[in-house]
Amino acid sequence: MYVHKYLLDTYLPEFPTQITKVVKMDESLAIFCSDTIFYPQGGGQPCDLGILVIDGNTHQVYHSETTEMGIAHLVKLDPSLLTSVGKPCIQRIDIERRLTNAKLHTAGHLLSNIIEMLDSNLVPSKGHHYPDASYIELIENEKTNDVLSVEIINDKIDEIVNKSSRYIQSLTLNLNEAQSIRPLLSQLIPQQTQCRMIVIDGFKPLPCGGTHIGKTSELKGLKVTRIKRKKDRIKVNYLIDGVNKWNL
Ligand SMILES: [Zn+2]
Repeated sequence: MYVHKYLLDTYLPEFPTQITKVVKMDESLAIFCSDTIFYPQGGGQPCDLGILVIDGNTHQVYHSETTEMGIAHLVKLDPSLLTSVGKPCIQRIDIERRLTNAKLHTAGHLLSNIIEMLDSNLVPSKGHHYPDASYIELIENEKTNDVLSVEIINDKIDEIVNKSSRYIQSLTLNLNEAQSIRPLLSQLIPQQTQCRMIVIDGFKPLPCGGTHIGKTSELKGLKVTRIKRKKDRIKVNYLIDGVNKWNL
């Protein structure tokens, strides 16, 4: 399984690489590089923004996304870039935005883990980790007594974030192993032979291709604000004090 640079180090702000392809798209250019520290939008996590430095000139990356050709860094059309294939390129991401995204995203994992620990009939199904609108959703296998409350979850967060921090790591499993641990979520990820899983110490791993922080103590200020039930689904809104907007 090929692992992009952005998955190897969440905290890496700058990376020297090489341009492999340039594609013109109306008033923009899609720049492709031999590797990238830019997280492309997906999985409920926003993309990274930043700059590319090519021939000493700075180009703003206003969007990054996965395409059939690889991960595209979109910049404003500049004719001089059309002949830049093979040139060195320094990538620099907006690290503050990256860490905001990684914290909100990792918080979604921690909440999923806490909630399924409190009620094993609830299975994590999806998440949306944008500032001011972060939530996760879980599906209920069978109707149970409603043991969840904002207070109970926030008490558990307090224990794991403020009192007894846990490490967060990635591990690689083969698809069969991932499917046996997470039958529902394993259907939603690329069906490759190997699968990247994220594990918070003491909890069940979740398949994920996003960026994560290294330990739960970095989530200070995390709290659940609302729990809403609808049929067999439960939606949990949350925020992290002081980490609820991008400084654009
Ligand atoms: Zn993740």
